Amino acid sequence: MLNTQEQQFDKGVIKVADNVFTAVGFHGANTSMIVGDDGVIIIDTLFGPSSASEANKAFRKFSDKPVKAIIYTHSHGDHTGGASAFTGMERPDVYATEDFGSAEGASAAVAPVKAKRNVRQFGRTLSPTESTNRGVAPSNTNDSDRGEGFIPPNISIPNSGLKTTIAGVDIEFYIGPGETDDAMFIWLPKEKVLFSGDNFYRSFPNLYAIRGTVYRDVLKWSESVAKMAEFKPHVLVPGHTKPIQGEEATSALSDYSEAIRSVYDQTVDGINAGKSPDQLAHEVQLPEHLKNKPYLIEFYGSVPHAVRAIYSGLLGWYDGNPTTLSPLEPRTKAKKIAELAGGTQQLVEQMNSALANEYYQWALELSDHVKWLEGADREHARKVKISALRGLAAQEYNAPNRNYYLSYANELESGQLSEVWF
Ligand SMILES: [Zn+2]
Repeated sequence: MLNTQEQQFDKGVIKVADNVFTAVGFHGANTSMIVGDDGVIIIDTLFGPSSASEANKAFRKFSDKPVKAIIYTHSHGDHTGGASAFTGMERPDVYATEDFGSAEGASAAVAPVKAKRNVRQFGRTLSPTESTNRGVAPSNTNDSDRGEGFIPPNISIPNSGLKTTIAGVDIEFYIGPGETDDAMFIWLPKEKVLFSGDNFYRSFPNLYAIRGTVYRDVLKWSESVAKMAEFKPHVLVPGHTKPIQGEEATSALSDYSEAIRSVYDQTVDGINAGKSPDQLAHEVQLPEHLKNKPYLIEFYGSVPHAVRAIYSGLLGWYDGNPTTLSPLEPRTKAKKIAELAGGTQQLVEQMNSALANEYYQWALELSDHVKWLEGADREHARKVKISALRGLAAQEYNAPNRNYYLSYANELESGQLSEVWF
């Protein structure tokens, strides 16, 4: 299933209107060029100058007018790092929201572990034979020049938005928090083209990123996408994956908004009914009529992860059950579990048979107990965990999960993970 998503990253420039071009597949995200009377406008600039200059070369077959403006839909690095490759020696205006950059700054203190988890989520160290794609991006991107072409914004879009004309092109900016609080979407009223940034792409949205993020305001995300649908665009240009043209552009946006809202409402109802995150992560599902929409398959975002994010975003870590206020320390719990199994040897046998029966999640959970037991063969438990992770990955079409399982297995195997991680 995940392999079928590859067609969303076919490298090339797509003409989405007479004067609007979108480059797909040059790096992880998309970049677009709008051609005006005496210049062009670039929306999002890819990850670094090398990928951006390749896209710029492809754009320049359609226009050689100077760059009059750069627009960042939000502050993530895959949209901002290559600006200089488009501008050359020119220094055009660079537009972004007032809150630009606020998202990642909030958790800067844990940057070292976020970097580690980022590598796993995107499978950055997986071999070509292990890689498929990143759900909404190809896996074979050149990431060596991350952020080197970034040009800081000099024009802030106020919270009330902005309607203006650049290079003779009427253009409207609307604040639209979602994947980040600093996100906006762009509307061309004449061409009826809408640039959604990362609040829409062809996958269930990444309402939570397992690389570790602060709470993404799920309710606002749903509202921002609903607002986009009101424009009834002729073309929807997503932050990643191919543009959607025709009536499907509007139905995709309203379905997307409804899907996000449904996951939010179901989670909130469950919370108020006293249910725990573990229960809700297994119970909440997309409504039947949305489940099989091609732009809502969980290639990138995951419904269960979203449920947990909403839970902790609204209530913090505590699930309301006093049993979980002060659970047993992991070593003590592992000893108790071993006693329950009839001894360490019996627990190890249960772990082995879980693996043999391809009950990989259970094998993982038991290996995490065995690792704490003195006298247990920890090296064996580690091998079981590696095999179980690869077994899970083979069944997984959610790219971040799959990449994380495989990357972690490789790290365990190579011995580079400290005792803390195993
Ligand atoms: Zn992106």
